Amino acid sequence: ISFADLGITGPLLTAANAAGMDVPKPIQEQAIPPFLAGKDILGVAQTGSGKTAAFALPILSRIAGLGNKRRPRTARALILAPTRELAVQIETVIRGLAKTSHISTALVLGGVSRHSQVKKIAPGVDILIATPGRLTDLVREGDVILSETTWLVLDEADRMLDMGFINDVRRIAKATHPARQTALFSATMPDEIAKLAASLLREPVRVEV
Ligand code: AMP
Repeated sequence: ISFADLGITGPLLTAANAAGMDVPKPIQEQAIPPFLAGKDILGVAQTGSGKTAAFALPILSRIAGLGNKRRPRTARALILAPTRELAVQIETVIRGLAKTSHISTALVLGGVSRHSQVKKIAPGVDILIATPGRLTDLVREGDVILSETTWLVLDEADRMLDMGFINDVRRIAKATHPARQTALFSATMPDEIAKLAASLLREPVRVEV
């Protein structure tokens, strides 16, 4: 099976191959087709499973399919990650895959100048990757408006819970478009994460590796 069989085509397929991704990993094989079809995803997967590309490829594919439509006020897609390191890593992967497209990305992280972050996202970006604490501040102050954000990914949700971000995550999710598509990935599925998933996902496809 190839990424083309899963629905990844054109320049994005070329970029995936160039990044050394020729054969989809199990999480990708399971998650990409339903994600492309607009389904919510509940993914139980560890770091190293290939989960980043499992959500990045379908989001990039869907955004590329929008053509030159006006960008929303802040971000079309939002990816939340527990740590700065993970957020930076996700952005690096996405930038690599988006190299041949006009898809824009930005980071919102704690511990870095807010001003430069706000300036970069002001014109609107396709994909925003953020840690929950700083993003909550920017949303509260009106510097980031998520009402037109129609894709939401929660990566390593159990770590966000452990780090005390669960209320920020809920608040941020509430600020996004109500008809969004949502994916939640977690290495473990404690009760609190199952509850969070039940409240944020609509009839999710469960994928597990
Ligand atoms: P992740 O779990 O998303 O952090 O990915 C773990 C590692 O697997 C990263 O170094 C990716 O570049 C690599 N990777 C992801 N998908 C594939 C694939 N289909 N083929 C080969 N390597 C991959």
